[in-house]
Amino acid sequence: MPKKGHIPERTCIVCRKKLPKKELLRFCVKDNQIVLDKTQKEGGRGAYFCSECISKIKNLKVRRKLFYALRIKNSDKIKDIVL
Ligand SMILES: [Zn+2]
Repeated sequence: MPKKGHIPERTCIVCRKKLPKKELLRFCVKDNQIVLDKTQKEGGRGAYFCSECISKIKNLKVRRKLFYALRIKNSDKIKDIVL
């Protein structure tokens, strides 16, 4: 049984705010695209955005943070970011 009152928290990669996992949007890499993981159950590394920072995802600086968080070395390989 999970401990009562335990809420898994993750950090928004942009503002570094800690929030319950459910309130964040998780992105992961799939088929050379960065995709929104709606179920939060995709395997591999994930990067989290809070609802305030999600609007900045197309911003170049934010995109770099996203690539870094997902350990993407060659960003040319990423074809798209799918929201
Ligand atoms: Zn944020």
